[in-house]
Amino acid sequence: MHAGDFYDPLRLWSTLMGAQGWHPAVPPPSAFEATWCSWGYGFDITPAQMLGALPKLKDLGLAWATLDDRWFDAYGDWNPRPDTFPGTSMKDMVDRFHRAGVKVQLWWLPIGAEIANGKGESHRYRQSDVVRDHPEWLVLDPSGRPATMVRSLAVLDPSLPEVRAYFRDMAVRFIRDFGFDGFKMDNIFAIPPCHNPLHRHASPEESTRAAAEVYREILAATHALKPEAVIQICPCGTLPSADWLPWMDQGVTADPVGAAQVRRRIKILKALLGPASAVSGDHVELSAMTREGHPDWFETGEDFASTLGAGGVVSTKFTWPPTGVVPPSGPVDLTPAREALWRKWLGLYDRKRLSSGTFLNLYTLGVDAPEGYAVAKDGVMNYAFYAQGPWRGEVELRGLRPGTYRVRDYAEGRDLGSVTAAPGKAPRLPAAFTDHLLLEVAP
Ligand SMILES: [Zn+2]
Repeated sequence: MHAGDFYDPLRLWSTLMGAQGWHPAVPPPSAFEATWCSWGYGFDITPAQMLGALPKLKDLGLAWATLDDRWFDAYGDWNPRPDTFPGTSMKDMVDRFHRAGVKVQLWWLPIGAEIANGKGESHRYRQSDVVRDHPEWLVLDPSGRPATMVRSLAVLDPSLPEVRAYFRDMAVRFIRDFGFDGFKMDNIFAIPPCHNPLHRHASPEESTRAAAEVYREILAATHALKPEAVIQICPCGTLPSADWLPWMDQGVTADPVGAAQVRRRIKILKALLGPASAVSGDHVELSAMTREGHPDWFETGEDFASTLGAGGVVSTKFTWPPTGVVPPSGPVDLTPAREALWRKWLGLYDRKRLSSGTFLNLYTLGVDAPEGYAVAKDGVMNYAFYAQGPWRGEVELRGLRPGTYRVRDYAEGRDLGSVTAAPGKAPRLPAAFTDHLLLEVAP
């Protein structure tokens, strides 16, 4: 039995796992820096587009750029695409980001490999070189055909030491030879059991169980080269797995559908990974979306407050210079109006950095109204309250030691006077706000 929402039981579960030697990685300080991602440009991103956005990243104080999906020729081989990243353009691009002081993260999906006639979202699959050279590495289904994982990819069996070495060496190549500073490992789900007779498995589940070993070795090899490297693992809209949770530096809200999911998933991951863990709120554009009148989700999110106030790391995928094109997934151009908003919130994020504070479980989701969050940092309590639209009433400022405090709405720069906390009695503050109220409460 437990009180409150999911936080306490998940935290207890994590602590009990810790007693058995399960410990999430301690994130480097770089895991708390704001991120820009190339996904606004979609599958055919080029070095010119990446470098075109670079001055605006510098201008807005974004410390990271992620080169997202489809920079590569074939899953499994992971060579730069000759049509978009020819010759040495990949390394040259990373070097130019570094000269500007911006770190670069690379998107990839270990374990999977293309086989001919497979179909992906982005391109028609061919036989990858790795499957041509090592057909004996494939996970097979009970009928002896290649088993498939996400994106209809064939699976290289991670229970084989040579397969693990292949992906570890791949990570080393990305970090050491291309110069990348970390990874966004995406579409990370379970992989199928293996019935390949060549592997002499004691149990078909050996392949499924060994998957996490790949992520563990990638994390170790990456940090051996760059201690400040950041690896994010994204399970794309599904729950995280205990298998791979310890083998990353940064959790992510994993393709949230709207701001409520952003906040709740930050709370889930803080419970699992610890109150000082790094959790990305994912692209802010995902914080508002609709399907009405659109073939798929249409994203219009600008809700940085949900990530910032709940203690997440902010992220965005705008295009710059503006392209004038609105993709079917929603606007991504950084128009002058959006730029002013982005500048305000990225500035606030950098000044507050609540993501690296201590997340406190003081409010209960589904019970307390408005929805509340608290993060302690540098002797200051930071509260965030959320409602859909306008809200009026009293908010309770929980967790304060007895004393008198100054209250400030740091998002709007408003002084809200002072409150006094008596022993065992949280002060209440009359409040009227729309969507969010972000408070700093200092002695
Ligand atoms: Zn196998």
